[in-house]
Amino acid sequence: MSTPTFHGLSILGHSLFAENPTEPATPNTRDAFRATNPATGHPLEPAFYSATPAQLDRAATLAAEAALPFAATSCAQRAALLRAIADHLEAAKVPIVERAHLETALPLPRLNGEMARTTGQLRLFAELLEEGSWVDARIDSAQPDRAPLPRPDLRSMLRPIGPVAVFGASNFPLAFSVAGGDTAAALAAACPVLVKAHPAHPGTSELVAHAIRAAITESHLPAGIFALLFDSGIDIGQALVQHPDLRAVAFTGSAVAGQALMRLAANRPVPIPCYAEMGSVNPVFLLPAAILQRPEAIARSLAASFTLGSGQFCTKPGLVFVPEDAPQAFLDTLDHAIASLAAQPMLTHAIARRFAEHIEQRLQSNLADRIVEAKAVQANADPAIPTGTAAPIVFAVSLDRFLATPALEEEIFGPTTLLIRYRDPAQLIAAARHLHGHLTATLHTASEDLPLAATLLPILETRVGRVLFNGYPTGVEVARSMVHGGPFPATSDSRSTSVGTAAILRFLRPVCYQDVPDSILPPELQKANPLQIDRLVNGQRSRATA
Ligand code: NAP
Repeated sequence: MSTPTFHGLSILGHSLFAENPTEPATPNTRDAFRATNPATGHPLEPAFYSATPAQLDRAATLAAEAALPFAATSCAQRAALLRAIADHLEAAKVPIVERAHLETALPLPRLNGEMARTTGQLRLFAELLEEGSWVDARIDSAQPDRAPLPRPDLRSMLRPIGPVAVFGASNFPLAFSVAGGDTAAALAAACPVLVKAHPAHPGTSELVAHAIRAAITESHLPAGIFALLFDSGIDIGQALVQHPDLRAVAFTGSAVAGQALMRLAANRPVPIPCYAEMGSVNPVFLLPAAILQRPEAIARSLAASFTLGSGQFCTKPGLVFVPEDAPQAFLDTLDHAIASLAAQPMLTHAIARRFAEHIEQRLQSNLADRIVEAKAVQANADPAIPTGTAAPIVFAVSLDRFLATPALEEEIFGPTTLLIRYRDPAQLIAAARHLHGHLTATLHTASEDLPLAATLLPILETRVGRVLFNGYPTGVEVARSMVHGGPFPATSDSRSTSVGTAAILRFLRPVCYQDVPDSILPPELQKANPLQIDRLVNGQRSRATA
């Protein structure tokens, strides 16, 4: 195994904080913390050091100073930066993936796939920048002779919002972390990024940050456009959101933390947008003809989806609406599929503990019946089962009970799902209307089910950001048309996505330039259209001069 060098220190601009003469050369050991290997429960060397408020302030000041020069860079420069980050990540892939494996217990093939996704998404944003129409350039030409009043020359486009705070997620140590989708989108938008590393994978975070730092140096861009801040607690994250130089927040994690950050962002003297992706229970609707025709296939793929990655995905299908008279083959296959599964290590012992507590609460409350008698499920109660692991479990409940029990719609992060038995289509439609916001909804249909699906679709599109047919929501394609968002409480702002190139819109704001001399306009708005981008010119899509 390769042995990378760690400093354990926050990165402010191009400096590790101890290199900054205003900071002590020796970090305060009181604030030292270590990652834990979730598979063994043992601490991992070396120690990492929480940033101090002064270091956070320094990083924010550097970001604020870098914001204007960064906003003045061309799309081509930023596309080159994103590609350079991807190249540096690939060059350091082996140590990064090995460290991520130690810190998260996620399997190496999954982490290699996540690295490919991370570099792929950086390059996809680079393509977006080069294509150019994302700036939404709009031109209303001057009409000096218009009566009764002349019209001025009006040109608008999207411009960067300013420095962005990004919170790395525990369940995607690469793709939703230091160089993940939020960072890629913010850098593409020309916004400096201050990442608060997730304390569960500090070593992975540092290695990724070095790749970003190398790419910034190589690209001759201002050092302040990126900083990485460690913290073993929540102080630095909270101070980051409240810092006057920050202009937006991007977060992926729990509802408790996400809502705390939303409140902090809203209650600042100058409120800023907080884009929090806080998880979801992702209802799946098994329609009557589909379950009759494909009971085994649906059960097998459902089991694979809710246990994937030990159920630690915000897209895990956690609510499954099943007809009361579903074929026994469905339940038998589900039972069989999970019977052989062993308990898996969770990302952190805290997440495993929370899962165990939620399962225990559900069992004790008798709100839902445990319906699976699989070996792995029995192991949940087995004191010999290793700490930090979780075994799959399936509950079931009647639709009437579900409608009367709001707690059953809350996320349990881990390998569990809830079957909800419905009597007839009318009851299913009532259930769809009852749902709060989620990231996804899935319909399993046969051709006979299409009339019911057509009734459900317009209801579900008001509840979620992505509707799927005959698939499973785990596995979110990074694409131009992806929507990974949804109404509250799934996210803080249902108008946005945190996956795909439309994620850039969270970090942009429209600016209108009225009668501004052509030579000092951004090139996207200049008469000659030097970048040859698609623009809305007097109501028509055009690449012509205007
Ligand atoms: P988390 O508790 O939401 O923490 C995410 C990040 O926010 C961490 O850096 C955390 O720092 C910080 N944080 C937590 N509370 C905060 C607060 N009040 N103010 C400022 N910062 C705060 O998520 P997690 O540790 O990854 O996992 C815990 C639970 O989150 C899981 O059991 C699951 O329910 C949920 N989760 C959801 C998703 C999703 O995709 N939506 C992903 C991962 C986890 P500290 O760790 O130092 O507290």
